[in-house]
Amino acid sequence: MIPFLDLKTINSQYHDKLVAACIRVIDSGWYVGGKELEQFEQHFANYCGVQYAIGVANGLDALILTLRAWKELGKLKDGDEVIVPSNTYIASILAITENNLKPVLVEPDAETFNIDDKKIEAAITAKTRVILPVHLYGQLAAMPEITAIAAKYNLLVLEDSAQAHGAEIAGKKAGSWGDASGFSFYPGKNLGALGDAGAITTNDPKLANMLKALRNYGSHEKYKNLVLGVNSRLDEIQAAMLNVKLNFLDGENQYRRQIADLYLKEIQNPEIELPLKNIDAKNYTQHVWHLFVIRTKHREALQKYLTERGVETLIHYPIAPHKQQAYKEWDDLSLPISEQIHAEVLSLPISPTLSRDDTKKVVQLCNGFKV
Ligand SMILES: *Cc1c(COP(=O)(O)O)cnc(C)c1O
Repeated sequence: MIPFLDLKTINSQYHDKLVAACIRVIDSGWYVGGKELEQFEQHFANYCGVQYAIGVANGLDALILTLRAWKELGKLKDGDEVIVPSNTYIASILAITENNLKPVLVEPDAETFNIDDKKIEAAITAKTRVILPVHLYGQLAAMPEITAIAAKYNLLVLEDSAQAHGAEIAGKKAGSWGDASGFSFYPGKNLGALGDAGAITTNDPKLANMLKALRNYGSHEKYKNLVLGVNSRLDEIQAAMLNVKLNFLDGENQYRRQIADLYLKEIQNPEIELPLKNIDAKNYTQHVWHLFVIRTKHREALQKYLTERGVETLIHYPIAPHKQQAYKEWDDLSLPISEQIHAEVLSLPISPTLSRDDTKKVVQLCNGFKV
């Protein structure tokens, strides 16, 4: 079986370094809020090209706490509107509703799967305060255009960078375009811990300071609580794992690009629509290919065909957020582009340890698929 994502093999590449880092933490006697976290926050901020990175417990908390911090700082209030792509992973939207803010769903560009920047202005109202673009599948949203719209209407930008560690446009990385950015280091992400972890990046010292309080019971100083905070800390063991793995992120992203190039050049089947086929190659060279997502009118048949021949595939995502039971009040919304994407997408295996032979096997099988 060619697995979709083989985390054991990915992490065993760094086995000795990860074990040494674990031992270092165990022997230090200091397990939360110590040197490993401080080092990771510094390195990750440098990597993204920003002043501050603030470690938290997971990617969802990174987004939730940033919006909450802006409320605490007086930049947002209950009921304010946040523009978000309609085809994102549910976490981007949960972060908004969790804060009593109102998600305004904007359709994606069918070619890039990212929010269609040309549809953003029409969605702006007197209550709009934030644009929350998601760099879906590893490709930056149209950030030059989105930040220009935000400047024109005086809106905040919160990037959801959970799938795009290291992606860039014109040398500027995910996490450095918005007023703030949320990252996830869930094990399956391009930069993955060996458990849950997340971070916020920003250049705003006031926001960074508020986030450091919010993640720790609203407190900078023990037993002195400034705001109603939570417990959302990135612990030392996970920070130590990330300190090891950050060194290999660029190399792993480069390897993912090579797999994607092979898929893009060699998969030729009229039933399979490849990603970005109408986009000039220079525009996606800095895609970090968290997922390689194709479209087909025959998804169930193609998935079954590949499974029977030993290739594991997944669907990101099978149900659009506005069709989820959790958001049943949106059931009447008509978002045809999202609905079609959700019905047609299929993710092929792509990972830092997928061999060239296995990649070629996936290509051959895709080319042999008939309806
Ligand atoms: C993974 C992910 C998140 C949430 O990250 P967790 O660490 O699982 O909480 C948020 N947004 C997107 C787009 C994601 O892919």
